[in-house]
Amino acid sequence: MASLLPSRPRVGLVGWRGMVGSVLMDRMRAEGDFAHIEPVFFSTSSAGGAVPASLHALAGGDGKLHDANDLSTLKSCDVVITAQGSDFTKAVYGPLRAAGWKGFWIDAAKTLRMNDDAVIVLDPVNMPVIRDALGRGVKDYIGGNCTVSCMLMGLGALFKADLVEWMTATTYQAASGGGAQHMRELLTQMGTLNAAVRPLLDDPASAILDIDRGIAATQRGLGAEETRNFMVPLAGSLIPWIDVDRGDGTSLEEWKGGAETNKILGRGPGFAGTEAIPVDSICVRVGAMRCHSQALSFKLKRDVPLADLEAMIREDNPWVRYVANTREATVQGLTPVAVTGTMDIAVGRLRKLALGPQYLGAFTIGDQLLWGAAEPLRRMLRILLQD
Ligand code: NAP
Repeated sequence: MASLLPSRPRVGLVGWRGMVGSVLMDRMRAEGDFAHIEPVFFSTSSAGGAVPASLHALAGGDGKLHDANDLSTLKSCDVVITAQGSDFTKAVYGPLRAAGWKGFWIDAAKTLRMNDDAVIVLDPVNMPVIRDALGRGVKDYIGGNCTVSCMLMGLGALFKADLVEWMTATTYQAASGGGAQHMRELLTQMGTLNAAVRPLLDDPASAILDIDRGIAATQRGLGAEETRNFMVPLAGSLIPWIDVDRGDGTSLEEWKGGAETNKILGRGPGFAGTEAIPVDSICVRVGAMRCHSQALSFKLKRDVPLADLEAMIREDNPWVRYVANTREATVQGLTPVAVTGTMDIAVGRLRKLALGPQYLGAFTIGDQLLWGAAEPLRRMLRILLQD
């Protein structure tokens, strides 16, 4: 195949200072990606300003912040990577293509994910789908939903082996999935709750039910300022609904679980001769910081010994960290605290369910800003650079 990009291509970076964007910059620095590109930094809010000195020193480029809505500068890029968000993609992508831009568009936002001519990228799971798309001249490569990507990084082996008849998930999704303001709000609520019962906590003789009543009253009394993002208290509670109401009893987050899992795997609508695997879930926001966890149940197409399943999962990719299904290993290694900030995808609680030998249970945890958001984007850039 002819080279897809010139040597040292111009790569436009939009959304680099947001939460996903900052993690992306960190990973690109750590992996030496900037050595292979000419970065062009964009901003929707500070065009004309300077790229922060620390980033400029490491990344290079002209040191200027270009206007992210200026189509002519965007058009000069061979690749645009954006973690700016859906509003930006909606506003700029169409006009940029209409202006004749033929470059590669790599995006964290959901806007284009389900377009027929866009691929959801998660190369350790769907490299054949990506390769096929590159061969067909596809130019839009979009990061998947964070929960779906983390789940497939952990349990993708079962799908690759075509063992899954269906899967259900209950998710335990972190505050970070909503963005930086959501993380701040969770911590603020935690502080308010703690402060409300501090004198009682400091007194070993105080009654636990007094503390409990104080917490419940404080949670129910949290004002609009302290619940602006989650709408209700999350600290000391949970919220079993994520993203918009589709009006049919499901949330958009739950719909994504089925639709995106199949699209990543190259199955279902748009993939001739394939059938979608039924995947359904109940998605729950919990008070974790930035790791999404999922309890999974599978019906397998046939009875496979547990040891063989474990071996397949362990060997699927270098980031799976298998956690033995014991109490000690689980509480030490299979928690958001153990996984956060690492590239590990922890997989544990693997066991056959009482429902029968074809039924498998598992639990998986991944940092949703790494494998769930930033990492698949920078790896897609590397794939383009290598071709
Ligand atoms: P974010 O933190 O809100 O950042 C988005 C943009 O907001 C920044 O690029 C920046 O643009 C602007 N901004 C305004 N005030 C800011 C401030 N004080 N600090 C930093 N940036 C500020 O959004 P995000 O959570 O990274 O999400 C970006 C996209 O990725 C969204 O489409 C989201 O759906 C998707 N995504 C998010 C996650 C996640 O876990 N959060 C996971 C997967 C995908 P300017 O520099 O141009 O002003």
